[in-house]
Amino acid sequence: MISLLGIPYDSSSSFLTGAAQAPERIRAALLSPSSNLSIENGTLFDLGGVIRDEGDLTLSEGPVHRDEITTAIKGIISSGRKSLVLGGDHSISYPVIRAHAAANEKLHVVQFDAHPDLYDELDGDRYSHACPFARLLEEFPHIELTQIGIRTMNPHCQMQADRFGVRVFEMRDLPAPSVLDIKGPVYISLDLDVLDPAFAPGISHYEPGGFSVRDVLSLIHQISNPIVGADVVEYNPTRDRHDQTAMVAAKFVKELAGQIVQNAV
Ligand code: MN
Ligand code: MN
Repeated sequence: MISLLGIPYDSSSSFLTGAAQAPERIRAALLSPSSNLSIENGTLFDLGGVIRDEGDLTLSEGPVHRDEITTAIKGIISSGRKSLVLGGDHSISYPVIRAHAAANEKLHVVQFDAHPDLYDELDGDRYSHACPFARLLEEFPHIELTQIGIRTMNPHCQMQADRFGVRVFEMRDLPAPSVLDIKGPVYISLDLDVLDPAFAPGISHYEPGGFSVRDVLSLIHQISNPIVGADVVEYNPTRDRHDQTAMVAAKFVKELAGQIVQNAV
């Protein structure tokens, strides 16, 4: 019921490339003999059973890659499966989530991130990894967006958040008891830089003052709504140490899969 799909793309990163190498390394971490495929709620991470690994997308150069991503996700949705995506930089979440937005009358996106990613454009690029949620909310006003872990809000992104009615929980506001009071089907987008860099050195943008791995797991485990899909993005193997962050990404992939299964109706 879950399709695991790698999107090895990092050409919309504003600072460093490397995230395109992530899917392969996260898969290796998932299968590493140093751990196992257990999920905390007891769901079996059963490759070939509950979870089907669809491999990595081969993408064309240029803007057409976004349509290729959306088409692949629409294929997964139309086969009745949930998508669990291995990024890639965060720009890929726009073409991924627009497929889910087109398929769901109501959709609540929960974004874990140090950054709001709401720029109208960055460095002249409207499809930068700093912009995906601005593009989504322009195109799909029915999407509700909750952001958690933000610690880089600036006046432009605050203006965008106000304009789109985004619910923002900044790190300085947490803990917020109603943080996951959400309605309807959910899509979870997990940018690894939501973690404190101490927990995840393999990312491109270090923003100190973030969550622990357990903080984020606890928030994911609290979500009881049906989950239509999820992504884990911004893992950058070129910055990692001893695959530490690959193991964190793999842990999130397993726990997201477990939550998708647990919440499925
Ligand atoms: Mn992001
Ligand atoms: Mn980020």
